[in-house]
Amino acid sequence: MPSRASPHGLPLTAPFLKIAALLRQRPVHDIPTHLRMKQQTIVTLDLEGVLVPEIWIAFAEKTGIPELRRTTREEPDYDVLMKGRLKILDEHGLKLPDIQQVIGTLSPLEGAKAFLDELRSITQVIILSDTFAEFAQPLMRQLAWPTIFCHQLEVAADGRIVNYRLRQSNQKQKAVASFKALNYRVLAAGDSFNDTTMLGEADAGFFFHAPASIQAQFPQFKAFDDYGELLTAMRAAL
Ligand SMILES: [Mg+2]
Repeated sequence: MPSRASPHGLPLTAPFLKIAALLRQRPVHDIPTHLRMKQQTIVTLDLEGVLVPEIWIAFAEKTGIPELRRTTREEPDYDVLMKGRLKILDEHGLKLPDIQQVIGTLSPLEGAKAFLDELRSITQVIILSDTFAEFAQPLMRQLAWPTIFCHQLEVAADGRIVNYRLRQSNQKQKAVASFKALNYRVLAAGDSFNDTTMLGEADAGFFFHAPASIQAQFPQFKAFDDYGELLTAMRAAL
């Protein structure tokens, strides 16, 4: 009798048929561990508040320009807020290299680098941030250049920041949805309102360093303040 082959070209030998039948008929939890394929994971992390300080607030403190402390809590219209910030920078004659120099004196939060290094050794990590690539750069250097998806500034030849460009709206949630479409299981962590759609889209979402008021509004996300505890929760969910 001529030997048959599977649609994938594999010979339909007894062991192959036995494994195929096993995978077809038995529930996943009943399949021996050596035959199971675990879904690959990606962890997406917010940047400011999770790994590094709030950049605008830290920058306002370093430069002694209190008007730059304004956030979306005082000015809910993001465009008005950003245009106002750029105007203040202009008034103080602060160009991108000056700003980067100040940001370069900021440090990641204590324990952030070790947490990120450990996480990157066990899974893929992508930072999803609403900051700008040019501002993030000095901090990314200190974090050993992890992958970051964020927005971009429009900078003139003399270094003056002319405008800002959001790559797309709600980019954090859209990135997580896209990773899931690429057949990844996604875990996410963030600290604020602009992270909640990302946490909700992820297979598992965690708050880290989130204010109590925000935690209370989104009780579905487990909240942590300690890197070790977040890492343990993420390991368990991988
Ligand atoms: Mg944040």
